[in-house]
Amino acid sequence: MTVRVRFAPSPTGMFHVGGARSALQNWIYAKQQGGVFVLRIEDTDAARNKPEWTEGILSALDWIGISRGSYEGPYFQSANAGEHRAAAARLNESGRAYYCDCTREDVQARTGSQYQGYDGYHRDRGLGPGPGHALRFRTPDEGATVVVDLIRGEPTFENKLIEDFVIARGDGSPVFLLANVVDDMTMGITHVIRAEEHLPNTPKQQLLWEALGVKPPIWAHVPVVVNEKRQKLSKRRDKVALEAYRDEGYLAGAMRNYLMLLGWAPSDDREIVPWSVIEDEFRLDEVNLSSAFFDEKKLRAFNGEYIRALPVAEFIDACQPWLTGTGTIAPPPWQPEEFDADAFAAVAALAQTRIAVLSEIVPNVDFLFLASPLIDEAAWTKTMKDGSAELLDDAVAAFEALESWDAESLKSTLEAVGAERGLKLGKTQAPVRVAVTGRTVGLPLFESLEVLGRERTLTRMRAARLRLV
Ligand code: GLU
Repeated sequence: MTVRVRFAPSPTGMFHVGGARSALQNWIYAKQQGGVFVLRIEDTDAARNKPEWTEGILSALDWIGISRGSYEGPYFQSANAGEHRAAAARLNESGRAYYCDCTREDVQARTGSQYQGYDGYHRDRGLGPGPGHALRFRTPDEGATVVVDLIRGEPTFENKLIEDFVIARGDGSPVFLLANVVDDMTMGITHVIRAEEHLPNTPKQQLLWEALGVKPPIWAHVPVVVNEKRQKLSKRRDKVALEAYRDEGYLAGAMRNYLMLLGWAPSDDREIVPWSVIEDEFRLDEVNLSSAFFDEKKLRAFNGEYIRALPVAEFIDACQPWLTGTGTIAPPPWQPEEFDADAFAAVAALAQTRIAVLSEIVPNVDFLFLASPLIDEAAWTKTMKDGSAELLDDAVAAFEALESWDAESLKSTLEAVGAERGLKLGKTQAPVRVAVTGRTVGLPLFESLEVLGRERTLTRMRAARLRLV
């Protein structure tokens, strides 16, 4: 038997980090089993679907390493609508389903409660098809449905507790529960690996498989991803869109490493692990049963490590979208013609050790490309105290006299200027840094001044001095 798994997102919003995790788990499982990964877009909710969400899913998967052309599909659920209807008709003809025109109010009037289920009223009333007549599946009264789950063992559901659920709406359109099963059948899916939130659907779906005469798949319900309050990640409340992380400058390698470590760890408990090791060692049945905390701080730390591990040339390439503002990334504050690739290359290695996400490159290097630095006013007020004007005067004079404009000489020169006033280097360089870069923190100052050049450095120091008059 060839293992066939599928990832079946609904294109109803930005592609979610939790979805990316499920996709990767399916992907790895297929690979480990020598199986096939199928992508199916569940696009039957016409009111909530948009083509751009589908495109977003494809490009986000591509980014994370599940690249177009390397899987089967994408199939579209809507293309299989005929099969969904045919399955509903088969279940009806075989007596496994029946029509019902009850509203929730009807049911509650009969049951006299806030009961949310269905009381089986139309089971044996022989109602025929018609507008507003939904088709319900007749669940068995006895026995139990045993689900084989790679993570949970064999969760068992008593059939009498499973209500007769709707499989096709009053307008004849099949619902998710049925369409999803019929698609999995048509596509020969052997293993359904998906989020735990679908577990309540599983006994119903397994009954549908059985009623349609096909051996049900093996299931794996993976615990959900939660925020720091242990709430399920939600797109309204939490930053969940994979694209948002991509555009902020998370590396795909860091992201997928982090996602796979949610609820699982390799044997030696290492955290930053090459993808090949994860692909070898990941085991679905080792996934922790409690929900996994998506910790953005930890992801940031992962990302910083991945950034530092890049060869500088690759780091320079990786920064390009933020330096040029390509795709959906906001343009930097400088004009394209102000950018100087050589100057960037000269400071890239210094920046690489200091940033945790690639977008942070921009505030670190903008002073190199802007005609005048973006002054952070709070930093200015905090730094430019009594004595700063005189200090800048002396520093300008000393720098003007420098024969060689290099980091070493700049440093020893400024050190000497400070020493005359009894100031340590840190205190001496603060006003110079603010004058030249506009900020109190940034790349090592003297290397920055060397790359910025004599003229521009002195112009900025003089301009700052004038502001202090
Ligand atoms: N379209 C469903 C979802 O996005 C798929 C559920 C499943 O994997 O079976 O939740």
